[in-house]
Amino acid sequence: MPPIQTTIKCPSCGSPQPAIIEQVIDIARDPGSKTRFLQGRLNFFQCPSCGFQGALATPLVYHDPVKELLLTYVPAEMRLTSIEQEKMLGGLIQQVVNSLPAESRKGYLLRPQTALTHQGLMERILEADGITREMLEAQRAKSKLAKELIDADAAARQALIAEQDQRIDADVLALLNAIVRSASAQEDAAFAEKAAQARDAVMQYSTAGKRAQAQKEEMEIAARDLEALGNQFNIDALVTLVASAPSLDRVTALAALGWQLMDYGFFQKLTERVDRAAGSERERLGSIRDRALVEIQRIQQAVQSEMNATVGVLQSILQAPDLDHAIEEYLPELNDVFFAVLEANLESARRNKQEAAIQRLEEVKTKILAALDQSLPPELRLIRDLLGQESDEQAERMMADHAGEINDNFVAALKAAVADLEANSPGAPSERLKKLLAQAEKQAALARFTGK
Ligand SMILES: [Zn+2]
Repeated sequence: MPPIQTTIKCPSCGSPQPAIIEQVIDIARDPGSKTRFLQGRLNFFQCPSCGFQGALATPLVYHDPVKELLLTYVPAEMRLTSIEQEKMLGGLIQQVVNSLPAESRKGYLLRPQTALTHQGLMERILEADGITREMLEAQRAKSKLAKELIDADAAARQALIAEQDQRIDADVLALLNAIVRSASAQEDAAFAEKAAQARDAVMQYSTAGKRAQAQKEEMEIAARDLEALGNQFNIDALVTLVASAPSLDRVTALAALGWQLMDYGFFQKLTERVDRAAGSERERLGSIRDRALVEIQRIQQAVQSEMNATVGVLQSILQAPDLDHAIEEYLPELNDVFFAVLEANLESARRNKQEAAIQRLEEVKTKILAALDQSLPPELRLIRDLLGQESDEQAERMMADHAGEINDNFVAALKAAVADLEANSPGAPSERLKKLLAQAEKQAALARFTGK
């Protein structure tokens, strides 16, 4: 059930335009299609003639075999009779069933559930992920509040903050921050300005804002204290720093920044201090230790769940029927954590001599590296290749071979790379790039002169 390449009439200007229509979202075959749908990117049409953009109305069948979920949706605006609907959906469901091996054709496939609206379809999918309608409604209410705070003028805004103080929480603050960022990124200066004013007012006047402000200050102090510790770091000094925290907020801040240092040994020493103390001091140290423990557990859980999510991404890519497509889909999400998980999987497959797994993982790794490489601008690719040469002479020869690419862009990128290397890892690589830079500047000047 590949997407259908077709020609549609633009709903706005009526001109015929090519479009891609997907009618089956089967996350067993294409794990990325779920995200595309939830983000509104599935069947999204933009008219090259008149600029119209919007979702194309089409029947949809959603299939998640793991959750045994089969959902259908037919937009009311298509005005199909129930017989026409049944016929269209029947054909799509048949495609889903046909793609499954006989042993996976279970009873739920005979009982598709109907969603009456696009929104309803999304809610059913999210519900199966454990995201309830109440959670979605709470989220919507928060978005609405954020929008009202931005739209209000200064006086009305202050009144709104006082009136809604209880509903303004960390989520609303995070939303406002995200809106400010995205408005600035889209260069919508007027809106960004208004959003920033709303955020600043909320920080200044709301209970949650004041608290966030105080936490931010605690964070800054904790960062300074830990940095001061860095020069002669030892675990006793860290225990002393945490034990002398003037507030539990400071303990939270220290844990957020120094959690990797707060291991079993750290807590043992902290507990010794609690046990040695008496009276109110014992109570004070005890509550500091309890807070630190809670924070460390919370952070470790968050790290673990990011790891789990990353493992999920890797699984989706490994199982994808169309590997290139899956990699393209997930490329923006592939970070250092992902590569660490990939390497760990390779390591374990090698240890257990699982040939098929090794091969697939190697294939995935090679393709991802190639895809990342493709997304690099050509001048950065050349610089990377130059750094990869064994000797300076080879690098110089390589650059001479690529004379056609040595232009002002390349020189600028090379300058930036030298500065970057100097700052982060001075030594041999930056020396080589400096030599090459001198040669490149000559070549580029020469090319300009000869008009090449
Ligand atoms: Zn159009």
